[in-house]
Amino acid sequence: MIQDFYKEIVLDHYQRPRNRGKLENADLEEHLNNPLCGDEVTVYASLRDGNLDEVAFTGRGCSISQASASMLAERLPGKSREEVEKEIEAFLEMMRTEEREDLGDLAALKGIVQTPNRIRCATLAWDALKRGLEGKTNT
Ligand code: ZN
Repeated sequence: MIQDFYKEIVLDHYQRPRNRGKLENADLEEHLNNPLCGDEVTVYASLRDGNLDEVAFTGRGCSISQASASMLAERLPGKSREEVEKEIEAFLEMMRTEEREDLGDLAALKGIVQTPNRIRCATLAWDALKRGLEGKTNT
């Protein structure tokens, strides 16, 4: 079942989060919470030559919110700011509409979010990074 496969991906990120921890000397730090579910996420990123150099997160909450932050922190380091902004938009669009194969493991989040009130869990870290980048327009 594809659904089981999706659950495994999400559970793997929840149990073994990638790049979890505070990033020292971060250029960008943005905290968001999701009162509906009690999730909290802080996303950190360092920028170098127009690229996201390092990306990390801290937080607590449900498996969807933390796995999503882990996926973000794993996927985005090394990408240009433009690529990252595109990917954030593509992910947010997917969560509002339908699965996209080109987003790889991120499709697992879409696959297991069955009710609209869990969408916020999945988008929390991405909204935080988006907001953080918007606050850093000159770097
Ligand atoms: Zn949640």
